[in-house]
Amino acid sequence: MHIHCLGGFREVGKSAVLLESKKTKLLLDYGIKVETGEIPLPPGKIDSILLSHAHLDHSGMIPTVKADIYATPATFDQARLLLEDSIKVAKKRGFPIYFSKRDIKNISEFMVTYGQVIDVKDAEIEVFDAGHVPGSAGFLITLEEKRIFYTGDFKLSETRLLSGAKFDVKDVDVLITESTYAYKEHPPRSAVEKKLIEIIHETIAIEGNVIIPVFAVGRAAEILLVLHAHKIKYPIYLDGMAKQATEIILRYPELLKDHKALKKAMNRVIPLHTPKDRKNALKHPSIIVTTAGMLSGGPVIYFLKKLRKREDCALVFTGFQVPGTPGYGVLETGVFTNEELSFPVRMRIKYLDFSAHCSRSELLKFIEDCRPEKIIVMHGENCEEFAEELKEKGYSAEAPRNGEVIEL
Ligand SMILES: [Zn+2]
Ligand SMILES: [Zn+2]
Repeated sequence: MHIHCLGGFREVGKSAVLLESKKTKLLLDYGIKVETGEIPLPPGKIDSILLSHAHLDHSGMIPTVKADIYATPATFDQARLLLEDSIKVAKKRGFPIYFSKRDIKNISEFMVTYGQVIDVKDAEIEVFDAGHVPGSAGFLITLEEKRIFYTGDFKLSETRLLSGAKFDVKDVDVLITESTYAYKEHPPRSAVEKKLIEIIHETIAIEGNVIIPVFAVGRAAEILLVLHAHKIKYPIYLDGMAKQATEIILRYPELLKDHKALKKAMNRVIPLHTPKDRKNALKHPSIIVTTAGMLSGGPVIYFLKKLRKREDCALVFTGFQVPGTPGYGVLETGVFTNEELSFPVRMRIKYLDFSAHCSRSELLKFIEDCRPEKIIVMHGENCEEFAEELKEKGYSAEAPRNGEVIEL
């Protein structure tokens, strides 16, 4: 059988891996590079897609494929939200548009749950909890007697929102793994939370507003849970797609570590809907949790325009900023720039690492426990280096390029 590396190799973005046996063609994820609109190589005619989770770098092109798609219900719900938004974003940026709202509606959905084993032609597929965002999954595929484990994005350690990946897989023939943080350790979550709470108290004490840009899927809920756990009493506003995304995951209590806590946290949040709401939210010291996480759109831009000269206000990034995004620009240079606007931001700017990916040590531990015969490293900025390092540790590892075909 063959593994076709269609996208997401030696890069983060547009993940797509095709498994091809004599009888069966399975596509693992089919994403888009959100920042540039780049798409993976075409998969040709396939039998099914296994979708690991809703993030667009994994799901962004699935409406273009005429095949059954296997994912958890929470993944489908969140993916539809992100896919619809991606059409608007593509239009705005002048990127090609590959599908319509109708195509999103017509996705052929096959719901799976953790622990389930499904058959697609001669492939047997087992679904595992990946601990990355609610509904995220890793897949163990048995095809032509080879056992292949595809991690998708995963996090082993628990967060406020999720209990961490349950990847109980051993002795696989091939491990296809993400490697986003192959060279980074995340600081302990308790320290990151403490820092966030400190910034909030300091800013509110001088009558400022705290703007927290978040990714809609997963991160918004995590931040609300942190604020709830630390009993923050100041007004907390929630804006943009973060609202719908968090409402979606509340419908899946079985996926959440503490559904009650998230419900309570949401109940005490004030949603913002109209321009007037937004204006009012800035009339007093407050916390505003809003999309987009990398400032690439959404209501966060309104708040930045209003507060850019306010040194008493804070802008707290809660996730990695991809180079080329407006968020990256603000973090590196203090200047916000998108297609339409460019202005310096005088607010206090901070980055806090609330990552939903494995750290280096977690990644290495997982690989050690999994004892794979062969490792294919993808979804990272340092795939080649990491594969080299794994070889030195005695593993058979490689970091193929997009377009390469691996024969098993
Ligand atoms: Zn992801
Ligand atoms: Zn990803």
